[in-house]
Amino acid sequence: ELDALDVAFGFGPRRRQVLHGVSLSLAEGRTLGLVGESGSGKSTLAKAVVGLVRPSGGRVLLDGDDLAGARRDRLATLRRRVQLIPQDPYASLNPRMTAGEAIAEAIDPRRGKLYAHRDEVETLLGKVAMDPDAADRYPNAFSGGQRQRIAIARALAVRPEVIIADEVTSALDCSVQAEVLGVLRDLRAAGPLTMLFISHDLAVVRHVSDEVAVMSEGRIVEHRERDALFTAPQNAYTKTLLASVP
Ligand code: ATP
Ligand code: MG
Repeated sequence: ELDALDVAFGFGPRRRQVLHGVSLSLAEGRTLGLVGESGSGKSTLAKAVVGLVRPSGGRVLLDGDDLAGARRDRLATLRRRVQLIPQDPYASLNPRMTAGEAIAEAIDPRRGKLYAHRDEVETLLGKVAMDPDAADRYPNAFSGGQRQRIAIARALAVRPEVIIADEVTSALDCSVQAEVLGVLRDLRAAGPLTMLFISHDLAVVRHVSDEVAVMSEGRIVEHRERDALFTAPQNAYTKTLLASVP
């Protein structure tokens, strides 16, 4: 179980508050959809959870272990347990590593040699509907959607307990989007997968989530089971958000 407790964060020298004490629990084996309009703080929350930005207040616990307060030697292990697939696929891959090297390194950071893991790399590429020969290409040889799929394969390679998927399908065209959603669905069927699925696409969120949290201006305004949220929203902002869907 992943718990954000009262997480606060502000950008810039004046610390303009982007997260106003966000608390969110993600139970094991569940997919929690996180929705909210652009700029509401979804990606910032994701980054705070994995320690890419340091919260100015609050705590993030993974099965009770404090992610932010962990000692250095334990931090690397803890971080592997929660994998973020970032919103920007251009920022998420090392331009000097082939896709195969990036995935092999994620499988085993100490023995990240492609030849030791070629079969597993190709299996992972297959899971995200990429050809085996993609393993030998560098990120600049891929389209945005292809990079997104490599980033997903890389996150899966770690075999994390929790996946945070930040707008993973937003840059993809419909058929690839369906493929990626299929990959996520298969993963859920194959074993316990705990996922925070961030998206502004309400239809996609409704399709993949067990429960849904709504974020507005750095606060969670409503968090309920999916069907309850979509059929009988309580919060005024949630109602407006749902009403905006054609
Ligand atoms: P989107 O749906 O567009 O991805 P979001 O909900 O993920 O939006 P965030 O990216 O978390 O929103 O941004 C929240 C707020 O923080 C915005 O007002 C944004 O301008 C600000 N912000 C984000 N990153 C930075 C940064 N590196 N420096 C300063 N401000 C930032
Ligand atoms: Mg975002």
